[in-house]
Amino acid sequence: MTAYRTHLANDLSLALAGRRVQLAGWVARVRDLGGIHFFDLRDSGGLVQVVVDPESVPAASGLRMEYCVSVEGTVRARPEGTENPELETGELEVAADQVEILSRSAPLPFMIDDRTEADEQIRLRYRYLDLRRPRMSANLRARSACIRAIRETLDGMGFLDVETPTLVNSTPEGARDFLVPSRLRPGQFYALPQSPQLFKQLLMVSGVERYYQIARCYRDEDTRADRQVEFTQLDLEGSFWDREDVLATVERVVAEVVRRLRGVELSLPLPRLTHSESLARYGTDKPDLRFGMEIGDLSSVFEGTGFRGFGGVLGRGGVVRGINAGPRGFSRAELDRLVDRAKALGAAGLVWAVVQPDGSLRSPVAKFLDSGEIGGTVRVLGASPGDVLLLVADREKIAAGVLGALRLDLGQPPGHDALRFVWVVDFPVFEQTEAGDLAPSHHPFTAPVSVDEMRERPADAVAHAYDLVLNGSELGSGSVRIHDPDIQRSVFEILGISAEEAESRFGWFLEGLRYGTPPHAGFAVGIDRLVSILRDEPSIREVIPFPKTQSGADPLTTAPTRVATAHLAELGIDLTPATKASLGDEAGG
Ligand code: ASP
Repeated sequence: MTAYRTHLANDLSLALAGRRVQLAGWVARVRDLGGIHFFDLRDSGGLVQVVVDPESVPAASGLRMEYCVSVEGTVRARPEGTENPELETGELEVAADQVEILSRSAPLPFMIDDRTEADEQIRLRYRYLDLRRPRMSANLRARSACIRAIRETLDGMGFLDVETPTLVNSTPEGARDFLVPSRLRPGQFYALPQSPQLFKQLLMVSGVERYYQIARCYRDEDTRADRQVEFTQLDLEGSFWDREDVLATVERVVAEVVRRLRGVELSLPLPRLTHSESLARYGTDKPDLRFGMEIGDLSSVFEGTGFRGFGGVLGRGGVVRGINAGPRGFSRAELDRLVDRAKALGAAGLVWAVVQPDGSLRSPVAKFLDSGEIGGTVRVLGASPGDVLLLVADREKIAAGVLGALRLDLGQPPGHDALRFVWVVDFPVFEQTEAGDLAPSHHPFTAPVSVDEMRERPADAVAHAYDLVLNGSELGSGSVRIHDPDIQRSVFEILGISAEEAESRFGWFLEGLRYGTPPHAGFAVGIDRLVSILRDEPSIREVIPFPKTQSGADPLTTAPTRVATAHLAELGIDLTPATKASLGDEAGG
């Protein structure tokens, strides 16, 4: 097959017994059994046992872990009783009569083994060794298979794969830009794209009716759980499309990826929830539908209640909501911990209640509730004796968010054996920031369902925007776009971006929209997240070949690093005294 081998380990089978083969790979495990040496030879595809007599093959005595070797020998069945059913080649071995050490390995920083888990910092520092582990090499192959499935599906549908630049002008997606200084134009900066959004829209103006790209995106976000500052999306866009075209296309691609990575047929179309339904029933816009425990609305049950804890909140326009955590047998201490958790999540309090065999409730507040309220609560939450009910009375957003988080704490299955996709549709155009301003809930190029409604009551306006959610994780989002420059200007206005600012930041794009822009819509799917869930990995870092740590550092290359003052000077950049001081430079004083 190559200069060094005739077969990969996993090509071998007993059908080849008696055949001479030449293999090449790494020494995965060495055993010396009374003068006979056994070792496992690992290559990119698998593992096979090699048996060698060091008397006749002296090189065999010098083998150490992870040496790179080539081996020649004969395939034979393993002696009865020594087969290894866990190995694809577990029935056979190669009796070697030639072993050549191609290169030696320094002592290893950790075992190249799926059973021992080294510290992540060390794994990333020696990522090239980490990637030799079977699990990691399977992850690399799954990622490649995912991208192949995407390309084959979209190529087959007539999509054009178009590259867009990565030294660009800002493309806002709600994060900070990474900036790259220009040497030829000192004092001026490129931004790395947060997404190819504006370029793909301009490609629609160009008449590319179906575009996709496996696109690297960069978002300078503060450390958030399981995010990377640099990540990969399947980015796509279509002209003369509306929402249904996007959803159908993405479903086709995702179904093909799932078929190839999991061998499972998704039943299409995927289910849908509106954004407001999702918030009401699951307390989040990325609901995990692998389990029930839906949030129940108890406000009407407690209307006019004599229990002041709830009555006061309802009187101020708040809500009472609850979940049924099922039969739990929680101790008092465990229930108290749930109360603490709810408070840590921002609720003023949490009421727990355990349904008794006679339908009454055991709860610190039971004595304040009348039988109608108890019966109503049990009915709305579908409760049976033994069930633990958790109730929050608060502002709607807090009650939903807290119960949504408790629901995950109590019900979210570990791992990703089951796959539950759901579309969340009809997102609002804008969301309120902490400071009370409006910000785009996706990005500012998203079309409102009704332009008039958006202009009159922007905070309530619904967008043609949708997310794809898998097992409680957001896989991606998309929308129908604004293709009318006037509507685009209105959105900037509502966002408090002045005409001058819009012109200076996006004038180039707005101008493009003036030349016969077709209606268009699109989507982007996070490939890292999709592959990590399909591979049942706990983090996207496990499926990114060379990821960064949570703080955006790369332990392998040590990036980001300092650069020489002369290099900075060439770029017209000087560090502030405070930065110099923090770096310990004398110049910083
Ligand atoms: N540009 C969007 C994003 O990166 C996706 C889209 O709207 O197509 O999330």
